[in-house]
Amino acid sequence: MERLLRGIPASPGIVVGPVHRLVWEVPEVRHAMVASDSVDAELRRFRQALERAEARIQQVRARAERNAGPEEAKIFDFQVEILRDPALVDEVEEFIRGHRAAEHAFDLVMLEWRRKFALAAQPMLRERVGDLKDVHIRVLTVLLGLPDHDPVDVPKGANAILVTHDLTPSLTVQLDREAIAAIATDAGTRTAHVAILARSLRLPAVVGLRDATARLRGDERLILDGSRGELLVNPSEEEVAKYRGRAEREVAAELELRHLAALEPVTTDGVRIVLRANVDLPDEAEVAATSGAEGVGLMRTEFLVVGRATMPDEEEQYRAYSRVVRAFAGQPVIIRTFDVGGDKLPVGGYPTEANPFLGWRAIRMCLDEPELFKTQLRALMRAGADGDVRIMLPLVVTFDEVRQTRALLREAEAELAARGATYRPDLPLGVMVETPAAAVAADSLVEGVTFFSIGTNDLVQYTLAVDRGNVNLAARFTPLHPAVLRLIQRTVDIGRGAGLEVSVCGEMASQPLLAYALIGLGLRQLSVAPRSVPLLKRVVRGVSAERAAEAAREAAASRTAAEAEEIVRGHFIAALGEEFAAGAGLLGSGDGGSFHSSLSL
Ligand code: PEP
Ligand code: MG
Repeated sequence: MERLLRGIPASPGIVVGPVHRLVWEVPEVRHAMVASDSVDAELRRFRQALERAEARIQQVRARAERNAGPEEAKIFDFQVEILRDPALVDEVEEFIRGHRAAEHAFDLVMLEWRRKFALAAQPMLRERVGDLKDVHIRVLTVLLGLPDHDPVDVPKGANAILVTHDLTPSLTVQLDREAIAAIATDAGTRTAHVAILARSLRLPAVVGLRDATARLRGDERLILDGSRGELLVNPSEEEVAKYRGRAEREVAAELELRHLAALEPVTTDGVRIVLRANVDLPDEAEVAATSGAEGVGLMRTEFLVVGRATMPDEEEQYRAYSRVVRAFAGQPVIIRTFDVGGDKLPVGGYPTEANPFLGWRAIRMCLDEPELFKTQLRALMRAGADGDVRIMLPLVVTFDEVRQTRALLREAEAELAARGATYRPDLPLGVMVETPAAAVAADSLVEGVTFFSIGTNDLVQYTLAVDRGNVNLAARFTPLHPAVLRLIQRTVDIGRGAGLEVSVCGEMASQPLLAYALIGLGLRQLSVAPRSVPLLKRVVRGVSAERAAEAAREAAASRTAAEAEEIVRGHFIAALGEEFAAGAGLLGSGDGGSFHSSLSL
C-alpha cells in the first residue's frame, strides 16, 4: 500500500498518533427469514437491542454534555424518542411476526421512515433525517454484533488521529479534545466547514483524502501533517524524528512571526492595510484579540448552533456576542447573522434539499423565520451597547433582503424598548458580496449600508459553479480566475465610490499570494484567521500597493486562472523574495491545487 496519502491541508500542525477509524455508515443487512418457532426469540432480541442502543445513546449524550455542553447534548434526546416510538416498534415487530429476522425487519422500517421524513412537508421533520440515520446505525450495530466505532470510545490521552469520511455535527459535538489530536477526512476542502471548524478548534486537519477510510484498517500509526495535507502511514522512527523536527520549526516560525503582531501593517509605499480576525467560536475571542488584529471582520454565528437540538435563545446569544465584543474592547466587531444551510450545520440536522448551496439558507431562511431572526437581532443590539458591533448579512442577492432586514430591525428594537432593555439601536449594517448577483449589481445594494464584505469562498463557488466542498473539484476552485478578480474589482470600485468600507473575509485573504492580489485590487481591509494575522503583516510590510495594483490589473485581464497566478506570483516573488515565498509554501506544487496548499504556517 502507498504509505503517503495526500489530501488538502485544512488546519496546520503535525501530530504523530494511532489511527482511530470511524466508519459511520449504515451496515449492510442481508434479507433473512426465520422459522415460526424462532419468532419469539427474535422479538426478544429486537427489544434487547433497543435497550442496549438506548443505553449507548445515553452514554454518548453524557459525554457530549461534558465535551460540548448541555444544549449540544440535547441532540440525542430525539434519538431516544425515536427508539421508544411505539409506532416504530410496532412496525418492526409486525415484520418479525411475518418471519423476518430482527435486523432485516428493523432495516426495512428505518429505510421507510427515513424516506418519509426526508420528503416531509415540515422542515422540523426533514431536519431529523440525520438522527434517524444515527439510530439506524446504532441498533443495527447491536443486532449484527458489530464493533462500536464511536469517537467517544477513545481513551483520554490517546492522542489519536480521527480518520472518517466526513465530520457531521453530531460527531463534532462528541469529539473529546483530550483524546483526539487531529482529524483526517475523505471529503471536504479548505473552505468546507469541517476545515473552518478544525482551524478554530486548533486541531490539525487534512481533508479531501478521498479514500483514507477505505485504505486504512484502523490499527496503524500515522503522521498527520496539517500544513502539507499529508498522512504518512506506519512511519519509521527516523521519519517520526524528521517530522518532529519540522513541527518544531513550524512552531518556531509561528513564534518568530508573533513579534510582528504588534507592528503596523503598512506597505512599502505607505498604504495602511487593516487586518481583522475571523472568529468562529466565542471561545476563540481572547486569543484572537492577541493576534494583532484590529477587531473582528467576520464572526460566524452559525457555529453557535453546531449540532444542537434547539436554537440559542436571546440571552445566550447576547452573552456570546458580548464576550467577543469585550475581548476586542472598542474595536469594530462585525457579526454575521445566521448563515445556516449549505454545508453548514443547521439546528438538529439538515433539511434535505436537492441543491443545498442554492437552497433555503442564510438570509433567506432568516427572513422566512422572522422570530428566529429577530431574536438574533435583539441579541446583537444588546451586544452593541458593549462595544462597536456591526451587523452583516450573508448571501444577499437583492436589495429587498436589506429592506426586509431593516423592517425586522425596527420591530426588534421596539421589542427591546418595550422591555426597557439596554441596547444600541442604530448598528451599522453591511452586506456580504458573495454571489455574482451582489457583485454585478453592487450599486443596487449600497443604500443605507455602511460596508461590503466580500465572501470569496462563496463568490468563487458561485461564479465558477464549483462546489466549494467537493474534493473532486478542488483544483478548479481558483480564486484568481479572471472572472472572480473582475467581480471583486467591480465591488471595490462601486463600494468605494459610494463611500462604503469594502473588505474581504473569505479564505482568499488568509493566503499571502492571494492577499497580495486583493491589495492590488484595492482592498484595504482584510479579515483572516487570527493565526494568519502576523504572517500577513509580514506580507503587507514587504510589498508595494502600486506594484500589487499592476499585478492585479494584468491578472484580471488574463485569460485563465493559471496565467493570472503566474503573473501575481512573479510580482509577489519580486517583492518578497524566493525564500519567503517558498517558506510560505507557495512554490513547488504547480498543480492548480496550489491555491489550497498555499501557506498556512
Ligand atoms: C465566504 O463565503 O467567503 C465566507 C466568508 O463565508 P463562509 O465561508 O462562512 O460561507
Ligand atoms: Mg459565505
